[in-house]
Amino acid sequence: MAEQVATNVHWHEGEITPEMRAENMGQRGATLWLTGLSASGKSTIAVELERMLLANGKHAYRLDGDNIRMGLNKNLGFSAEDRTENIRRIGEVTKLFADSGMISIASFISPYRVDRDHAREIHVESKIPYFEVYVECPLEEAEKRDPKGLYKKARAGEIKGFTGIDDPYEEPESAEIVLKTHEMTIQESAQALYKLLEDNGII
Ligand code: ADP
Repeated sequence: MAEQVATNVHWHEGEITPEMRAENMGQRGATLWLTGLSASGKSTIAVELERMLLANGKHAYRLDGDNIRMGLNKNLGFSAEDRTENIRRIGEVTKLFADSGMISIASFISPYRVDRDHAREIHVESKIPYFEVYVECPLEEAEKRDPKGLYKKARAGEIKGFTGIDDPYEEPESAEIVLKTHEMTIQESAQALYKLLEDNGII
């Protein structure tokens, strides 16, 4: 994990407490971290959940794999080292959004357990609610969906290090919720996450 490089830096406390923010926004900030194979349904469910939250007057923001790789993380590839740095930065950004009072919805394959655990840890340290969501889908089903044609390319050897094909996906062991997207509709998955937020007093 990244080391602190700069010296002589000091945290500057503000005056706004998490309670004041929650009061102001009518919700608590939190992170929902969606992990799973490519094409398991992370982005689709995140979009539907964000729509539901906004329709109900809540404040949410999505952070999505490809989008982040086109901006903040455009200098990172798919080597194990770059994947770790990708997730480290996203963990920090989702934490900032959640700290600002938003419901931060992260959808990233995030295949390595140690990287996901780090994202959880930095939230826990800051007392920010964090929910790991395992968007589970059998590889065969994900491969059948293949909305971006990526599995086809990976099978043809045109993409190297593709999760599930020639790079590992380490299944979550203690996710707060598992969405089996080969058995649940998109609506049912989004509703299950909405309920999780309600049941935990976030909204
Ligand atoms: P990911 O973000 O995990 O890579 P996407 O959301 O981009 O996955 O793609 C999942 C694809 O599977 C979409 O085309 C979506 O419409 C489709 N799909 C079919 N059934 C489901 C389901 N029950 N839940 C989620 N996605 C589904």
